[in-house]
Amino acid sequence: MPRVAFLGLGAIGTPMARHLARPEYDLVVWNRTTARATAFVAQHGAAQGVRLAATPAEAGRDRDIIVTCLPVSRDVEGLLDGPDGLLATLPSGAVLVDCTSGDPVTSRRIAERLAARGIGFLDAPVSGGVSGAEQGALTIMVGGDETLLERVRPVLECFGKRIVHCGGIGAGDALKAVNNALLAMHIWGTAEGLVALEKAGVRSDVALDVINTSSGRSNASMNLFPERVLTRAFPRTFRLALLDKDVGIAADLAREQQIVSPLLQLTAELFRQAHRELGEDADHVESVQVVERLGGGTIGGKRDAAEST
Ligand code: NDP
Repeated sequence: MPRVAFLGLGAIGTPMARHLARPEYDLVVWNRTTARATAFVAQHGAAQGVRLAATPAEAGRDRDIIVTCLPVSRDVEGLLDGPDGLLATLPSGAVLVDCTSGDPVTSRRIAERLAARGIGFLDAPVSGGVSGAEQGALTIMVGGDETLLERVRPVLECFGKRIVHCGGIGAGDALKAVNNALLAMHIWGTAEGLVALEKAGVRSDVALDVINTSSGRSNASMNLFPERVLTRAFPRTFRLALLDKDVGIAADLAREQQIVSPLLQLTAELFRQAHRELGEDADHVESVQVVERLGGGTIGGKRDAAEST
């Protein structure tokens, strides 16, 4: 029976780990805030034999595969050292699969440190959001050795529908960062356009209806704006702080590759400011409210106010 550990039971880590809580896996979970891991074990432990680890070292003991899903790569690096760290117990031959949307430079450093102990590493960030994780339908973009990927593929298939080998270590991180930079551009650009249209007398629902059957459409215009902005629901599923981090990674990547990238650099700056303004808990789509404030208009807001009177 494969011995698996899952570290990081956050917004997306929890539904990912749930798919590993099954009889054919020996699963141990660890989370920095123990209450979350205790709740997870209370929910799944009895039926599926999931166990709680008190420290990363305890989680890593005798494991074949360790899955991490933390905010940034440096958080993963921070789990390695000390008497409670993963390196204290991880056996040679184990593989650490990091599903954090990480940065290539830190991933390569982690991979080197693990390789020195005979431990494999793959960067394996995911896309598809919390709902994709709940459905076990994530896309997983993997960087690192292909034979290692084949070894861990059955585990990844528990929560991933598309598993794509992207290149060497850090390739998954790089691709994920660029994808999310595009997401950020679509959100910001769509918000600017809709605020301008509202002020010019075009309702946002009418505008989105047209855009979504035209060439300006995106996942943001087709899903995020109708479901989260027009409704003013702004559910918190993916923190703006994390999107800020992703766009920053993409902007750094472009600079390292010495390409001219004004749009990436500007997007990174805009999301850095929005993050600073809205704080650590805000959802990424709440960045629309910064565009609304700067533009002095509300997307769909006037209509809602009229309807409620
Ligand atoms: P959350 O902020 O919801 O959860 C973060 C998790 O990491 C928590 O379990 C938290 O523990 C733990 N953590 C935070 N800092 C540390 C640290 N220094 N050391 C150890 N553990 C730590 O993040 P998400 O689950 O949303 O995101 C996780 C990763 O997945 C990120 O890289 C994100 O960009 C990516 N991602 C997220 C998506 C989403 O829709 N949410 C979609 C695709 C990718 P604690 O409980 O103690 O706070």
